[in-house]
Amino acid sequence: MELARRVFRGPTDGPGLLITGAVHGDEFESMVAIRRLIDLFESEAGSTSLLNGCVTLVPVVNEAAFLRGHRCAEDGLDLARVCPGRADGSITERTARALSDLIESADYYIDMHTGGTEFAVLPLAGYSMHEDSNILDAQRRMAKAFNLPTVWGTAGNLDGRSLSVARDASVPAIYTEYLGSATCHEAGVVAYVEGCLNVMAELKMLDRTPSENRVERTVEDPRPGSGHMQVFNPAPLTGYFEPAVALGDRVQVGDPLGTVFNLTGSDRQTMLAQRAGIVLVLRTFPRVHEGESVGVIMESPS
Ligand SMILES: [Zn+2]
Repeated sequence: MELARRVFRGPTDGPGLLITGAVHGDEFESMVAIRRLIDLFESEAGSTSLLNGCVTLVPVVNEAAFLRGHRCAEDGLDLARVCPGRADGSITERTARALSDLIESADYYIDMHTGGTEFAVLPLAGYSMHEDSNILDAQRRMAKAFNLPTVWGTAGNLDGRSLSVARDASVPAIYTEYLGSATCHEAGVVAYVEGCLNVMAELKMLDRTPSENRVERTVEDPRPGSGHMQVFNPAPLTGYFEPAVALGDRVQVGDPLGTVFNLTGSDRQTMLAQRAGIVLVLRTFPRVHEGESVGVIMESPS
């Protein structure tokens, strides 16, 4: 399998940057942003011509999932759990293999996500706490340069993901999040286009005046599993989730996050924050199955 992509090369050798969108099929800002980047490089407008190196742009990694209008393709596998995949596997496993081939041959990698259909995520650029300090340093620089309000470093122990393929191949990599809730926010598209160009300037691939710094907080949480968004605050029953907080709210331990009701409301359980911090991810699609996350609190000192 080959992923649909465009490659643009500068006049001299330099870094090979891979930028991907829609590893999950319902994360739209990434797709639109990469399409606009393709337009920018195609038009060769002065400020966005490559100085050196090569950028590979993949607007939609998970085409099968996108065509279904879902996070996952018809085999039900999460592409961000089955990397590096296999060439003779199911549709998602084959896509994962094709993606992993691109990641392994890149020098730097940006993987853009959103909260998809069911969640909203505070705009952030994230990376894993890589044990190689040179790679960690490059990731910190890329995440800061991307210029979203939150920079989040999390444990490097999660496998099956695009970022774990990059980790194992020693390719500095970041991922990004920007809202979600099954819509496409124009502000997110603009921030994603700008973010990619900012990282390219940081890597000296573009001559570009740096944007005003919009990073408001940088949090590093190396505890194992800290970046696994789908496991925090699991719903105690299947039903309807009504949040008591908004994205970005600051909560204390014991504050109500929201209530899950069964269909008639005869059974209801209010979920309390287990940690103090900022509501980083919040379920916006109300139907929740028992055990599925209703949100993530990022521990943050300020
Ligand atoms: Zn995603």
